[in-house]
Amino acid sequence: MHLLLVEDELALAEQIITMLRRSNYAVTHVMTGKAAMLTARSGDIDAIILDLGLPDIDGLQLLQKLQHANIDIPTLILTARNSLDDRVLGLDRGAEDYLAKPFAEAELLARLRVITRRYRSAQSSILSYQDVSLDISAMSLTVAGTDVELSRKELMILRILLESQGRVISKEKITNSIYEYGEEACSNAIEVHISNLRKKLPDRFITT
Ligand code: CA
Repeated sequence: MHLLLVEDELALAEQIITMLRRSNYAVTHVMTGKAAMLTARSGDIDAIILDLGLPDIDGLQLLQKLQHANIDIPTLILTARNSLDDRVLGLDRGAEDYLAKPFAEAELLARLRVITRRYRSAQSSILSYQDVSLDISAMSLTVAGTDVELSRKELMILRILLESQGRVISKEKITNSIYEYGEEACSNAIEVHISNLRKKLPDRFITT
């Protein structure tokens, strides 16, 4: 799960990032609406946490731009502004939910689970091919009925492969989907993850 955090208050952003990473989310952080738009367009973001008071454009404007660009990413608004008008406008413009600052950590995580679950259930949380079955919500893999342990990155890679089964998928696409922007991925990291995955899956399940 790759989240985009749009928040210009650095101290708060750092606090949120720490909390999200502890909960196994990959997080890309930007401070402006412009950077948010660019990142959202990349196509690798699963959900957005959006502050409304940004230095360049208003978060509500950003929602509108995303809508106009047909970019449909579940968004949680996070803001100190809590007027009914802002709340209604945000939801009208496609945000999934609204959380007022200051907020409790557990509440942010709970709401994130809700918006991402809603999005996933539209897609289906179980991906399977032959006798391999990956439950994304439960983060569990079974191969021929046996539970198999996966690391977080392995799970992310297998998810991408299963979502595009039968098609060729580039190393670049995999890298973009599982690493945060700026996160150092050593050059053969993907090969190492794939090689570990192969050992856990049936023969020739992943072909080069
Ligand atoms: Ca702000």
